[in-house]
Amino acid sequence: MKRIVVLGGGFAGVECVRQLQRGLRSNSTTDILLISEQNFLLFRPMLPQVASGTINTRNIVMPIRSILKKARFYEGRVRAIDPATRQVSLWGTPEMTGITVNYDYLVVALGGEPDFFGMSGIKRNAFRMQNRVMDMLEQANNEPDEGAKRALLTFVIVGGGFSGIETAGELHDLLVDATKHYPAISRDEVRVVVVESRPAILPGFAENLAKFAYKALVRRGIEMRLQSRLMSFDRSEAEVSWEGGSETIHAHTLIWTAGFTAVNMVQRSVFKTVNGKIAVNDHLEVEGYPGVFAAGDCSLLMDPKLGVPYAPTGHLAAAQGKIIAHNLSAKINGQPLKKFRYKPEYQMAVIGKRTGVALIHGIRIQGVAAWMLWRTVFLYKMPVFSKRLRVIVDWTGDLLFDRDIARLTFMNRQDEAKDYRSLDVVDEFW
Ligand SMILES: Cc1cc2nc3c(=O)[nH]c(=O)nc-3n(C[C@H](O)[C@H](O)[C@H](O)COP(=O)(O)OP(=O)(O)OC[C@H]3O[C@@H](n4cnc5c(N)ncnc54)[C@H](O)[C@@H]3O)c2cc1C
Repeated sequence: MKRIVVLGGGFAGVECVRQLQRGLRSNSTTDILLISEQNFLLFRPMLPQVASGTINTRNIVMPIRSILKKARFYEGRVRAIDPATRQVSLWGTPEMTGITVNYDYLVVALGGEPDFFGMSGIKRNAFRMQNRVMDMLEQANNEPDEGAKRALLTFVIVGGGFSGIETAGELHDLLVDATKHYPAISRDEVRVVVVESRPAILPGFAENLAKFAYKALVRRGIEMRLQSRLMSFDRSEAEVSWEGGSETIHAHTLIWTAGFTAVNMVQRSVFKTVNGKIAVNDHLEVEGYPGVFAAGDCSLLMDPKLGVPYAPTGHLAAAQGKIIAHNLSAKINGQPLKKFRYKPEYQMAVIGKRTGVALIHGIRIQGVAAWMLWRTVFLYKMPVFSKRLRVIVDWTGDLLFDRDIARLTFMNRQDEAKDYRSLDVVDEFW
């Protein structure tokens, strides 16, 4: 029996296992084990729509056990990888001791985490949306001081890539839609500011599509700061600078999408890393460790045409998972390995209500058509059929009804009430 252990139940790991399962016969002598700390695949491309309340959180979470047919799944957090003994050790839990798993072949697909480039202040103070937005609206509605109210209603997004731009569009829609429920807040008081260090947004997109997206966002009222860098953020002020100038934006909420690196566990591993990510060869095998492959956001692969690393996307991760599955079978059967050649079939981004940009097989599409195409393609990409139907129901509900602006804190509200500010002003206000 040969054992293939796949670490990480994201786009790369799950696609790899799906492909491996296909070639597995009932009397196979290969054992496939997927280990991940959560028992679901998070469908991240729809995350901005979850954050804006368009899609229900559970509907973008795909239970891994319903995707796996022949492979086995173990829920656990990887503690360390020892390629010398071919072992992976897992952390224990309060209820269970940690274990060690042997492998013959290993796939590392543990994904990534935000990279704050050493700016610990920003790391400490950045947010991950949703409840925070509703919280700010609730507080702003009761805030009599104009300056304080403005800061509550200002949201700074750092990063003009895929996730930053999609988040900006969704967040702005959410804020504008929500204002009709808040009598003391007008649409013009809401600010979404995108800070991007490059001269254009959506790097990697065709220039005219990126320009279209930029103009569409500005037309909606989203403020853009190109060629600008966030220098600091302390939960009340964001310092932004550019060549020859700087600006202080009064804001209590900052959403970080600018940098991404491999998860900490990978950075601590024995594998050679470049910018925190595992360096792989053309076959996606880790240099110096035959039989160990790496894919997705935790690996680094250069685009030979542009001479820069490929942008981390779910599409790239899944394509890598597929090739690794092929190469694992080839290794086991003593056949030659395939080189990984990446040619993205499409690039797409939704930039807010009923508008998007897309490049599909060289054809450029923008506006409503791109938005519809995005929905069709990503719906098709969801690996669990019942979740697709649920997302369709959510989208239909979004077309017909108002957004759900409830702030769900009742599940984890434990903190005591604190007297942060004098109540005199509030008394007067009421
Ligand atoms: C807001 C947002 C929007 C995006 N939009 C798009 C889009 O429109 N199109 C697109 O193609 N891409 C998009 N992406 C990027 C895409 O989601 C990622 O590139 C993709 O998820 C990477 O896949 P992966 O398998 O490498 O990692 P992940 O999907 O992150 O999976 C890694 C898995 O490993 C697990 N794991 C991590 N550490 C451990 C550990 N120590 N032990 C056990 N398990 C562990 C994690 O729980 C996770 O399940 C977006 C990303 C974000 C954040």
